[in-house]
Order: sequence, then C-alpha cells, then structure tokens
Amino acid sequence: MKKGEKQAKKTLFGPGIKIPNTFEAAKVNELPALAGGPFTIVGFLYFCAAKTANPLNCMIVPKIFFPPYVFFAAIVWLCSGGCSQNPPAPQTPDALPAHYSPQDSARDSVPEVDIDYLLGRFDPATRKDFVAIGKPYTDKSGMLLRREAFEAFKKMFEAAEKDGISLRIISATRNFRRQKEIWEAKWERYSKATPEAKARALKILEYSAMPGASRHHWGTDIDLNDLNNPSFEKNGKFAKAYAWLSAHAHEYGFCQPYTAGRAHGYKEEKWHWSYTPLSKHFLAVFKNKITDKDLTGFKGAETATEIGILQHYVSGINTACQ
Ligand SMILES: [Zn+2]
Repeated sequence: MKKGEKQAKKTLFGPGIKIPNTFEAAKVNELPALAGGPFTIVGFLYFCAAKTANPLNCMIVPKIFFPPYVFFAAIVWLCSGGCSQNPPAPQTPDALPAHYSPQDSARDSVPEVDIDYLLGRFDPATRKDFVAIGKPYTDKSGMLLRREAFEAFKKMFEAAEKDGISLRIISATRNFRRQKEIWEAKWERYSKATPEAKARALKILEYSAMPGASRHHWGTDIDLNDLNNPSFEKNGKFAKAYAWLSAHAHEYGFCQPYTAGRAHGYKEEKWHWSYTPLSKHFLAVFKNKITDKDLTGFKGAETATEIGILQHYVSGINTACQ
C-alpha cells in the first residue's frame, strides 16, 4: 500500500472518526444510518462497473479496499446516516407546564410529586429534600422547607440584610395534620357565632386554608415577619420590608400569591411568599390531579365542593405566581 493510500485509510478510520455501527442502530430515528449501508454498496458497484471493462471484477473483495472507492463509500455512508443525525434530545420525565420560563428551565430538575404530597399527607422531617431552618433565618424551632426554596430564601435574606431589611420566617412547611389542627380549632371557635357549615368554612377561609389545600403543604411557601397586613403598610413596622420584597423578591424566585384586588380566594396576605420555580409546577399538578372531593378527613370537609375550593382558593391567586 502506498503512503498516500495509508494516509487516506488512516483519515477515514482513525480514532477521530466515529464509524456508525449499523447493528446498533435499532431505533426508528436511526433508520437513515441503516439505509446508508445498502446505498453505499450499490453506489460502489455502480461506479466500479462504470470504470472497469469487466464489471465482475467489482465483486472481488480486495478491490473494495481500493482507496478512491473506500473514500467515496465512506462519505456516502457517513452523510446518509451519521452526518445527518442530530444528537438525541434529552429525555424529560414529564412535559413542563406551558407557563415555564427559561429561568425555570435552568433548574436541575423538576421534582416529581404525588397526590399525597400535594395534599400535605407526609412528614417533611423524614424527607431528604427538606431542610431545617435555623437562625438567623428564623427564631422558631422545628421549621422546614424544601432545600431549593430555602437556598433561594438565604440568598434573598442576605441581599435584604445588605439593604438594611430584616426578613424572618415565622411559618414554613405545614403538613395536613398541622393544618387540620389550625382548621378544626377555628371550626370550634366559630361554632356558636356561625353554626351553618358553609358560612363557617367561608369565615375560616378568609385567612386559613382547608387541610389539603394549603400552599404551606408544598415546602415552597413562607410567612415572613408578622401575620398582620397593617404591619407591612405605611408607618408599619415592616413597611420597608414589604417595599423591598415587592421590588426584589422576584429576583430570587419569590412571589406574593395573596395580593389585594383578586376576584376570589383568601384575603390579602402581605406576609405570605411563595418560591415559584417549584410552586408553579406543584400548582399545575394540583389542578390537574386533585378535585374538591379529595379534600377529606377534617370537620367541615363536606363544604369543599359547594364552595369550590380548587377554583376559588387554590387557583384564586395572583396571576404572576401561576
Ligand atoms: Zn402563609
């Protein structure tokens, strides 16, 4: 073999060139590569026959390795299959909700959650994707958040501190059991003044969610500083904190779901903030998989369907948080 022939062979089959393996190409989207093989052979025979006086010579195996034909065959093969193939698309477990922004897509992954999770029927203390919140972020003990939401909060906390703003978490994840305690305490407290079930539930729903329908179940939502709107308003103790949150919270992924002026749902809550890169996804799954009939296991649960908890409360949030 001449030096030039050696060079041509080295270039074609050297370590830098990936030769498509037609025997591995079993998937439908790899059929172009499979088709390349027969096309190459036919092409070779056609040109070989055109160049030689005796076409039968083209069937002689050593001739196949004659460099010009090898070169031609490789180009045809690669370009009919290998060159035209795009890298396989990354596999995702679920189609993301239509409202997902590019910022959301920068996340590592969207956690998979089931109905029990969204209804708060789990113990966050036993989950690896939850972390304990300690000082200086809170003065209370035993509070937990999803790890990603807490990491985002810490960044927001540091930025606020630099601007002289103090943010303290006073409530974080509350599971179904805890929400049931809150709900049923109010259910008893309002029993004399508001004996009728639906009216009583609506009274509680001014500020408290039904067990199963609280965003605090998800590990993405927090209450900050004080459970009292005037504290965040003009001359209030946390007026500057609220102004800072309104201007900057979105930079860290946080949104106020219960704003003033909404058509439905809980009253305004200037203290409640939600980490939307996760909670938007959880809300979408909640609306898709859960109905009012799934809200059971507490006093007054029978009013959920009549009131329309999903439509008016779970979905009745600030559109910027959806
Ligand atoms: Zn809250």
